[in-house]
Amino acid sequence: MSAHVDSPLTRILMGIFTRLSMAFGPMNWWPGETPFEVMVGAILTQNTSWRNVEQAIAALKADGLLTPQTLGRLSAEEIAPRIRSAGYYNIKARRLRAFLDDFLGRYMGEVERMREVETWLLREELLAIRGIGQETADSILLYAVGKPVFVVDAYTLRILERLGLIDGTATYDQTQRLFMDALPRDVPLYNEYHALLVRLGHTLCRKRHPRCQDCPLLDLCPFGQRVCWATLLSTSPPLSGACVFCRLYIRV
Ligand code: SF4
Repeated sequence: MSAHVDSPLTRILMGIFTRLSMAFGPMNWWPGETPFEVMVGAILTQNTSWRNVEQAIAALKADGLLTPQTLGRLSAEEIAPRIRSAGYYNIKARRLRAFLDDFLGRYMGEVERMREVETWLLREELLAIRGIGQETADSILLYAVGKPVFVVDAYTLRILERLGLIDGTATYDQTQRLFMDALPRDVPLYNEYHALLVRLGHTLCRKRHPRCQDCPLLDLCPFGQRVCWATLLSTSPPLSGACVFCRLYIRV
């Protein structure tokens, strides 16, 4: 992937970042005490809420199993009941076991050894592990290993499409490239940016009934402005004057 160049998109993306930072404050991600805990969390969080993952991680921690060496001694069948709260626990136990085989086999379970490997080679190795997809691999690379890789998820795709920065057909790779071509390769920036988009997608830019009137990006967002206009025009009688949400002037 080529190095970023400053462009109009750089300014737009940095503007979005600044607004979200000011609105939400520091995110302090990823919630995990060690890089290995972050790796385990990234694998367990597929298709479930973080609250369920926290319970599974707490159960592993209580049994002294949250190190590569201790968890690595267990079979998938022995791991499964311990991560039951994370859902799909048999599948996730097999994924964890496959990840552990790779991590212990290649790197002796040491994140420092992983850090020495070139980012995209590391990414290919992770993606070759059964059950590890792009979002999980990139979460591990960014939040556990400290590599400058932008994480894309369903929230990112939805927010960027609503902002008009991608269309509905944009892939994971295309969206990741959009960020990484426009922004400096900066781990703290990517860390915080992804966390802020998750916060926005979870609290305001929801799939149904987005709360656009409360969104710090409203004046940049064609979708959000349409939502607000539709809300105003559906009131009876229709409103006329300055929109209380985006402060645009409405003439009916
Ligand atoms: S204005 Fe609405 S649609 Fe646009 S980013 Fe904010 S919440 Fe999402």
